[in-house]
Amino acid sequence: MNSIYRSIALLIKSLLIMLMVFDTTLASATPEISNQPVAIIIHGGAGTIKQALMSDELEAEYRAVLNEAVTRGHTILLKGGSSSEAVVAAISLMEDSPLFNAGYGAVFNHQGDIELDASIMQGSDLNAGAVASVRHIKNPIKLARSVMNASPHVMLAGSGAELFAQQQGFSLVSNDYFKTERRRLQLERIIDQQTSITRPPKPVHPLLVKYQFDEKKLGTVGAVAIDQQGNITAGTSTGGMTNKRFGRIGDAPVIGAGTYADNSSCGISATGHGEYFIRAAVAHDICARVAYKGISLQAAQDEVVQIKLVNMNASGGVIGVDKDANIAFSFNSLGMYRAGIDKHNKAFVQIFQRN
Ligand code: ASP
Repeated sequence: MNSIYRSIALLIKSLLIMLMVFDTTLASATPEISNQPVAIIIHGGAGTIKQALMSDELEAEYRAVLNEAVTRGHTILLKGGSSSEAVVAAISLMEDSPLFNAGYGAVFNHQGDIELDASIMQGSDLNAGAVASVRHIKNPIKLARSVMNASPHVMLAGSGAELFAQQQGFSLVSNDYFKTERRRLQLERIIDQQTSITRPPKPVHPLLVKYQFDEKKLGTVGAVAIDQQGNITAGTSTGGMTNKRFGRIGDAPVIGAGTYADNSSCGISATGHGEYFIRAAVAHDICARVAYKGISLQAAQDEVVQIKLVNMNASGGVIGVDKDANIAFSFNSLGMYRAGIDKHNKAFVQIFQRN
């Protein structure tokens, strides 16, 4: 009888061991499910954007591209992709759209050429990459990422950046690829306004009326995201400012000014009058206020954008994500093209003060 009990006990023990082994095998085969919520926010530039002057069609075009860009980034995050991948995907989509001042459709410098700036920063290791004054790179944000990942440097400029691009397998495009009629007319208009002191300025071209010509309307693009690992990445890409001097570099590629990310505080991408944004170290200042003062991302953004920049007479705005996946934006201009999907999957696309 005793031996029957012993055999049954042995059988149960073996079954239990088998179950435990099966359970561990199952656990290791199941991908790790993270509880870290993801979030993304993007901008397409800030400036004098007036709803009354914008046609419904144009507004719908802007909203559609913003929606597509933010959704593309968010989908990557939901699938477990990194925040760097999400930021590069969202920004490249906007670089390829003629609506924004980045990549195709960027603004002209005084000489009638296009010079592009971009940067990216990872909050996980404070690694960063930037390119300035490039003329032949279709998606400068991708080259900024290569500078970050494949070079020992943070910033490469002009022909040196383009030689590095070729070595990294990028193909160069002609500077004409970026040029659009709308931006050419903008440059012409600004030069006409500056030289028309003794005569009335020329009538405004209908294409400029459509796009509400205003030299204070900027249009840089940027994105900030947090992924399932809790890593924050921020990126920014721009053609700079219409009629800028050849060789002028704005805040977008300057780490700490136009872009900054640190997993322990937040990530920021800025848009506005670059010279002021560099002097105010906008992106880093916001993250530093979050870190040192312990205030919210929204409060830190407002302190810098609504007080510090306003006191400097500088117009523009910022977007950001903090370490707890909160998203926030702040701007002191009439409008800012922006969109986001927060940690609760709540999405928005907005252009004007409130909507
Ligand atoms: N910050 C950019 C620059 O100064 C312009 C912009 O944001 O629209 O180059």
